[in-house]
Amino acid sequence: MSKQTHSFQAEVAQLLHLVTHSLYSNKEIFLRELISNASDACDKLRFEALADPSLYGDQPELEVRISFDKTAKTLTVTDTGIGMSEAEAIEHLGTIAKSGTKDFMNRLTGDQKADAQLIGQFGVGFYSGFIVADRITVESRRAGLPAEQGVRWVSQGAGDFEVETITRPERGTSVILHLRDDALEFADGWKLKELIGKYSDHIALPIKMEGETWEDGKEEGQPGQMVKTGAWDTVNQATALWTRPKKDITDEQYQGFYEQIAHDWQPPLAWSHNRVEGSTEYTQLLYVPSHAPFDLWDRDRKAGIKLYVRRVFIMDDAEQLLPRYLRFIKGVVDSADLPLNVSRELLQESRDVRAIREGNTRRVLGLLEDMVKAETAPGANAAAADAAPADGKVDIGSGDSTPAPEPTELPDGGVTDVVDKNEAPTAADTAAKFAEEQARDAGKYATFWREFGAVLKEGLGEDHANRERIAKLLRYASTTSDAATVSLADYKARMKEGQKAIYYITADTLAAAKNSPQLEVFKKKGIEVLLMTDRVDEWSLSYLREFDGTPLQSVAKGAVDLGDLQDEAEKKAAEEAAESVKPLLDKLKEALKEQVEDVRVTTRLVDSPACLVVKDAGMSMQLARMLKQAGQ
Ligand code: ADP
Ligand code: MG
Repeated sequence: MSKQTHSFQAEVAQLLHLVTHSLYSNKEIFLRELISNASDACDKLRFEALADPSLYGDQPELEVRISFDKTAKTLTVTDTGIGMSEAEAIEHLGTIAKSGTKDFMNRLTGDQKADAQLIGQFGVGFYSGFIVADRITVESRRAGLPAEQGVRWVSQGAGDFEVETITRPERGTSVILHLRDDALEFADGWKLKELIGKYSDHIALPIKMEGETWEDGKEEGQPGQMVKTGAWDTVNQATALWTRPKKDITDEQYQGFYEQIAHDWQPPLAWSHNRVEGSTEYTQLLYVPSHAPFDLWDRDRKAGIKLYVRRVFIMDDAEQLLPRYLRFIKGVVDSADLPLNVSRELLQESRDVRAIREGNTRRVLGLLEDMVKAETAPGANAAAADAAPADGKVDIGSGDSTPAPEPTELPDGGVTDVVDKNEAPTAADTAAKFAEEQARDAGKYATFWREFGAVLKEGLGEDHANRERIAKLLRYASTTSDAATVSLADYKARMKEGQKAIYYITADTLAAAKNSPQLEVFKKKGIEVLLMTDRVDEWSLSYLREFDGTPLQSVAKGAVDLGDLQDEAEKKAAEEAAESVKPLLDKLKEALKEQVEDVRVTTRLVDSPACLVVKDAGMSMQLARMLKQAGQ
């Protein structure tokens, strides 16, 4: 077939423009993206070949080769993965299939720095090649198709690309970058090896480069040069990161792996890496990101856990491996028990999957609890000020190098740390390490809560078994703190003598909550009230009736019973007042009978003449408004 020209989808053209203009200072990431695509392609082939081994043809090796030609100014990344048919090349390299693309585009501001950040979160993928190349040629053949059904895709990264049919004996894909003049540094063996080490050491696949040796000039006076030896060496470690012992993995490697699986350039807040043994065996490597993705509230958002079965990649967004309220967690689960041909339907019914989900949930809650501990440890705040990096970047996660002991409720077996047991740290080592970690960890939970608190609250309704653990992690603003830093335990510790409930109010904004007339009597008596402004608060609190034996009570519901906080004189005065204004109340009731259920005298107001409340068992006004907005 002759050459055909296709236009990029509008979003791609827009992204391409941005990529080449905003990511200039971060050029090298293109290599990570291309290697990650090559690795994905090999994973896909391995997976499809489980059902049809003939797909391997005469090339059983799955690998990536990286080569360059200084004279031709090209850099080529070749893989023996699944490859693309012509239709797939047009589809995959001409459109963006990702959820949230529109939303992402709308959020771009035109400010290069801010946009570069956003693009980083979005993930530029294949198109990042155009940061360093003014032309990209892709040659590919899909596994299972004959050699004559290869495809060549060429583009200069502007509005369109060309596609033609070629004959390609090898299965898989070659991406050939025609380097810009200001990117020739990448046509260099040392440079490439350095980048592969930095970005791709943890990839389970061998990444190979051709050996080079120095050859002197053939005749006197002729300069020598590097020549290729024809032997291809593996230049990365080529073992999946999560299978290695923890002590052999550096923080940088954990972070590099996170960048790759999460497509997030900002370091995670924390991570946890464990091998779980017992009736269900698996390895979990779970990360808490340091910022919310732009599509956190997108219903179609993909879950963040990749599932492997005995090192074989099975699927990307295994939503059954964590409850929905932990959907922001990224990571990998490698199961020893599930069958390789496991499908999404099967996952739903599997007992093993249920055990893994419970184990993952406990782990994540443990990670969050550790963050809280680091935050509340004495001296943590002072250390935070010292440790705050001058450039304002997020602190780099120390991970879960001293995991909290798993709670005893582990019918499915114990958890072992992926760590060498022979290594016994001295007490001094441990103390020093602890102090260091504390300094680094201060402020992390506050960051976590700001980014993901509203999602975690969903857990109150969703995860009955862990409700108490979740309740301890909650933070709210209150009449004594504008910042959402008050835990229910803090609140309880400050309760007035005789106070029998944890009081809260829900409103659309902090200002509305603070100025609510319903707060007056609490202010007067110096009783703290939690101020809640998240949309999920009302719903989630309907699942949390009490905390540590103390009921939670909305100040906007029913008659506020201040109990022992009211002295005898006040009670008497209230009763007398009620008696004396009875005729007025009756008139008001009559006049408002269409609008309200009851009119009564209250002690909850100090300055305002009247306020609206709902029945004890009634829907709160906030919830009623929400439902109305939602059209119910
Ligand atoms: P993502 O990897 O997040 O899907 P990319 O922009 O990196 O996004 O790649 C877009 C798509 O192009 C991939 O999903 C894949 O279908 C296809 N693709 C890219 N590189 C390769 C490759 N080396 N082999 C096969 N398919 C590829
Ligand atoms: Mg990609």
